[in-house]
Amino acid sequence: MMTPSREDYIKAIFKHNEKGTKLNNKDLSENLSVSAASTSEMIRKLIDTGHVDRDKTMGLMLTEEGKNEAKDLVKKHRLWEVFLVNHLGYSWTEVHDDAEVLEHVTSSKLADRLNEFLDEPKHCPHGEIIFGNSEEVDDSTVSLASLTIDDHGTFQKVSDTGELLEYLEVIKFKLNDDFKVVKKLPYEGPIVVEVNGLEVSISYHAAQEIFVLKHH
Ligand SMILES: [Zn+2]
Repeated sequence: MMTPSREDYIKAIFKHNEKGTKLNNKDLSENLSVSAASTSEMIRKLIDTGHVDRDKTMGLMLTEEGKNEAKDLVKKHRLWEVFLVNHLGYSWTEVHDDAEVLEHVTSSKLADRLNEFLDEPKHCPHGEIIFGNSEEVDDSTVSLASLTIDDHGTFQKVSDTGELLEYLEVIKFKLNDDFKVVKKLPYEGPIVVEVNGLEVSISYHAAQEIFVLKHH
């Protein structure tokens, strides 16, 4: 990454807060590959402007204002992903880098027009919701890695990281496919699922980044 901007800090804190994991300055500087000094300087600024607060148990937390700014950025990112996939022939593995650049140069006017043009899509190509278009209900998905043999489910979303997406393309994985767990090997071994009549083996590590809706 180039020198992270103020917006990158806000997004990084947002991602942690969403996951509900504790975050301190040190984690954040490692996360963004920047020095501890630049991180504390930026955090001080963000606290001064009312975007970030320090919580005793959770560490760095976005304020309502910080959260709104983060959601705005993430929305722009996901709208561009939809545009690149639906209109410029990108695959879901290719969109991340360009969407990452575009989100920072998109005015609210452009974002609104893009949203209209795309017919207010509810999800990005990776299955993540687009704020404002989708209701923010409590996430009812669980990781594929948490399922056991004979569990049924539907693939719902995946983490937006290049390595995982390339792997999923190799095994011809698609969102919204129904599957059944047929084998789960011990010691974090692969999980074998049956999808569209075919058995596919998914590494445990990847299964932790794939989120599914479990059928009951
Ligand atoms: Zn995405």
